[in-house]
Amino acid sequence: MKKNEHLITVVYPGSIAEEMEIETGDYLLAINDKEIKDVFDYRYMIKDEYIEVLIRKSYGEEWLLEIEKDYDDDLGVEFENGLMSDYRSCTNKCMFCFIDQMPPGMRETLYFKDDDSRLSFLQGNYITLTNMNENDVDRIIRYNLSVMRAVRTAAPCSRAYKPPRLTPQASKPCAPHQA
Ligand code: SF4
Repeated sequence: MKKNEHLITVVYPGSIAEEMEIETGDYLLAINDKEIKDVFDYRYMIKDEYIEVLIRKSYGEEWLLEIEKDYDDDLGVEFENGLMSDYRSCTNKCMFCFIDQMPPGMRETLYFKDDDSRLSFLQGNYITLTNMNENDVDRIIRYNLSVMRAVRTAAPCSRAYKPPRLTPQASKPCAPHQA
């Protein structure tokens, strides 16, 4: 599977996808001629009364589907990856990191240092904003995403910090280190 191709693993009965003969094992390639980078793109682009959806069938044929629907109707599918993108991990190296201090032998996911603005928006995870680039911040502004839960630390550590631009007007984003 290439980047920005999203494997469909569930098609709900009675959904638009079922009506259009989309099946599990098919791939979503684009909506309105635009690649879908992640679940933010998908949710944003799907909100329209007319969309063109490019699907690649499991046997390789590509279908361009013209769909008229209510504004807030979803296709009625689930994707292999809920974020439709790799989960982003923290790039910091805090000397007090609580994950590094966890005992060994627990389930693997507990050792993953997630730091992902998508998870912050979708389920309230805390993020540090230190692994985001200008493009990431621009998408948050474009999609008007809130609430982002950001954390900062009162202890010195070895984070490589580049202040992000949080809003077009923001002049002083939170600094992670407070003396
Ligand atoms: S930001 Fe959190 S997860 Fe990342 S190194 Fe620091 S304490 Fe650990």
